[in-house]
Amino acid sequence: MSNLPWLEPYWQHLSDYSSQNRVPQALLISGHKGFGKLQLAREYTAALLCDNPQQKGLACECCNSCLLFKAQSHPDFIQLQPLEAGKNITIDQIRQLITRLSLKPQFDGYRVVIIEPAELMNNAAANAFLKYLEEPTERTVVILITDKPTRLLATIVSRCQKIAINQPDKAALNSWLKQHTQQENISLILSLAQGSPLLALQYANENILKLRNECFEAWLNISQQHIHPIIVAENWIKLTEAPLLTWMTTWIIDLIKCRFPINSDGLYNPDKKDHLQSLVERIESKGLYELYDLLLIRQKLLDTTVNKQLLYEEILITWSDLNLRNKT
Ligand SMILES: [Zn+2]
Repeated sequence: MSNLPWLEPYWQHLSDYSSQNRVPQALLISGHKGFGKLQLAREYTAALLCDNPQQKGLACECCNSCLLFKAQSHPDFIQLQPLEAGKNITIDQIRQLITRLSLKPQFDGYRVVIIEPAELMNNAAANAFLKYLEEPTERTVVILITDKPTRLLATIVSRCQKIAINQPDKAALNSWLKQHTQQENISLILSLAQGSPLLALQYANENILKLRNECFEAWLNISQQHIHPIIVAENWIKLTEAPLLTWMTTWIIDLIKCRFPINSDGLYNPDKKDHLQSLVERIESKGLYELYDLLLIRQKLLDTTVNKQLLYEEILITWSDLNLRNKT
């Protein structure tokens, strides 16, 4: 792999498929967000389409196929995703795909389809796709990409060769990030990104640490009744780039952890340990677990067209009440 070193072993695996002439008809690439699943799939696609693959199976980047792929106009490459953010991949999309795949590829090489995020195929779409997998067309490779493999039909999963990308080694990621950003606090940013290197890099570039510190401050202020949760919710809906539900979830998880003797390394927010520890002394565990459950349930709504203002209000009011309830 050109620039994401932690994907090297997976690349090796894929390139072995090609060199041994056993390229699978369906591949499932899974792993957390920000691990580079799509990049891996796209590099493999480029290699499969390339007329003149190089050492280690990489695409040459200069043949006719490579140029067409780069220009996003290769006739034998199809990328399928929801037509609108927050929506499913529909049965109509899958039917159109299957019709297209029933024709021969335009060039002599492989034809490649990437479906991402694959778990967004609705039931009807998934069943239609399953029918295709039962009778796949020649020289065609379908690559499914997901960070939620358990949401796929088991019958689809069982027909795919699987590449599951694991959490990369922390020390290696630290040094990779150091090469790509000037930001200090690399370990902290990596921890906020929950170990996802590409997310960490995005955080570093967007100076997300400053924003997260401001949000944490507001969250503390709510706990001390210095500011009303509805005002904070109003401010927060403007922060579209901030993964606020994830942040709050890590704050709650860290609070729960702070109940026990723990060193900072074990926390998602090691720099906030003192604040968290003084907070947890006046909050009962039961309420924390309830808020944690609420966050997990609401997290599932995030991909939908949910009213974010109401969502933040509900969570922040629960948080405020939790602090009030236990102060006395
Ligand atoms: Zn090429």
